[in-house]
Parts: sequence; C-alpha cells; structure tokens
Amino acid sequence: MSPIENARRVVIKVGTSTLTYENGRLNLRRVEALCRVLADLKNAGREVTLVTSGAIGVGAGHLGLKERPRDIGGKQAAAAVGQCELMYIYDKQFSEYGHVTAQVLLTRDVMDDDRRRRNVVNTLTRLLEYGAIPIINENDTVAVEEIEFGDNDTLSAMVAELIGAQALILLTDIDGLYDADPRRHPEARRIPVVEQIDDRLRALAGGAGSSRGTGGMITKLNAAQIAMQAGIPAVIMNGAQPFRLYDLFDGRPRGTLFLPGGKSDDSGEDRRERSDEK
Ligand code: GLU
Repeated sequence: MSPIENARRVVIKVGTSTLTYENGRLNLRRVEALCRVLADLKNAGREVTLVTSGAIGVGAGHLGLKERPRDIGGKQAAAAVGQCELMYIYDKQFSEYGHVTAQVLLTRDVMDDDRRRRNVVNTLTRLLEYGAIPIINENDTVAVEEIEFGDNDTLSAMVAELIGAQALILLTDIDGLYDADPRRHPEARRIPVVEQIDDRLRALAGGAGSSRGTGGMITKLNAAQIAMQAGIPAVIMNGAQPFRLYDLFDGRPRGTLFLPGGKSDDSGEDRRERSDEK
C-alpha cells in the first residue's frame, strides 16, 4: 500500500501558479475543483490542512495592478487584499460542501519560540479535532525579512512536521521532478520516486518558478527534505487537475514521491516511466 493512501492527517500546499491565471486573477475552475476534492477527502475521513499561496498574486490581480509589486510595501498591501479574496472564495466553496474553514497566518519567528510554537500546534490540533479545515498562509502583511519563511513550500513542510502529518502534497504547475528541464528537453522524464535528496537532484531542481509565485523546484525539494527528515512522505505533483489527487490517495503513483527513510512501498514498476500527466 502506498504511504499516501494510508495517510490520515495530510497537508496540501497549493501555489500561486496553480490558483491564478497569468494576469493574477483567480482560476475559479481550478479552485472550485480543488475545494471539492479536498472536501471529499475530508468526507472520506482524512484530516485536511491547506497551505495556500496566492495572496500577493491575487491581491495584485484584484487591485488591477499590471504586475506583482516588487517592493515590500506593495507586496504587503497586495497580500492584505488578496488574503481576503482567497479566504472568501475558500470559505464559500468549502461551506457549499458543509465544511468549516479557519484562517491561520504564521510568521517564521513563531516556529523559533517554544511557547508560541506550542500554541500554534494546540490551535491547529484543536481545529482538526473540531473538524475544521485550517487554511494557512504566511502573514505577509507583517512579515519582514527577519521573520519570513520566504516561501510557502518551506512553510507547508514545517506545518506538516508541527502537526505530525502523515503526508505532504505540494501542488505546482509541473508534473513532478524531471531528470532534465522539460521546457527545454522534451525527452525529459519524470522521476517517480526519490529516496534521497542529493546534489545531483538539487542541480536538476535549479532555477526559479513562474513569475507569479515565490518558489521554484528547489524550494519544493527543500520542503520535501524537511518532510523526509521528519518521517513524512511528500509528493510534488501538478495541481492543474485537482481530481488527480483522488488517484494519489487511492494509491496510484502521481508526480514525484519522496520517501522518508529510503523505504519504498512502491512496486517499483513505475520508477522511470515517461510522464503521462502533461
Ligand atoms: N505568501 C505568499 C502569498 O500568499 C506566497 C509565497 C509563495 O509563493 O511561496 O502570496
């Protein structure tokens, strides 16, 4: 059985490039599909925590700015607008399926302080016990360099560790980790299973992501590594078709699976397959 199929407490991270169109506006079709699937995973008995990006991108889109602001004041203002918009949509969507959402905004310093960290753990645990869906983002409107996570990939891995999640799923705009850059090398193959993150993999992941988000593949690898070290399996997969999450949770290999402790529950047949998910 795949470790993801077994996972009850799961953290799912969705990036700006999945949530929005190029112009920064929300991709409603996708957001709606994602919320529906997550609501259903919850109905099926999983505890779902969502880590969402998109506040800055959506805020910029909502304000009609031509591009994502580059200065801190602009980013923080856009985030304040976008975070409202995001929560409005999530709350509306999840409510339609009878679920309760909870907004949790974190800064890095919370993780470094025992008492504050414990408080966050208690709050998140209680929310899950109450059956709510915690929706987490960095508190972008107050986060300055010294206290920022910088990217939500890292944030999501830390949250997964904090709440003792059994799986971390990173949804992005590419099918997983490839053995070459698929945008430049059409023959590139997706790597289905990773048991150890080494320099070779880091080199493969080099380079930034889209212009709308903050992370790229390298921040996802770092997140996967944090999860692996905490004994949590992680998956990087495409968020463009949220219904594929069903496949993943049904135990079918999707994206790239990062196995903690070098143990594989996978049959091995899919190890170097060509991606069918483009
Ligand atoms: N917290 C940022 C936002 O909501 C996203 C950071 C990231 O893209 O990783 O816009």
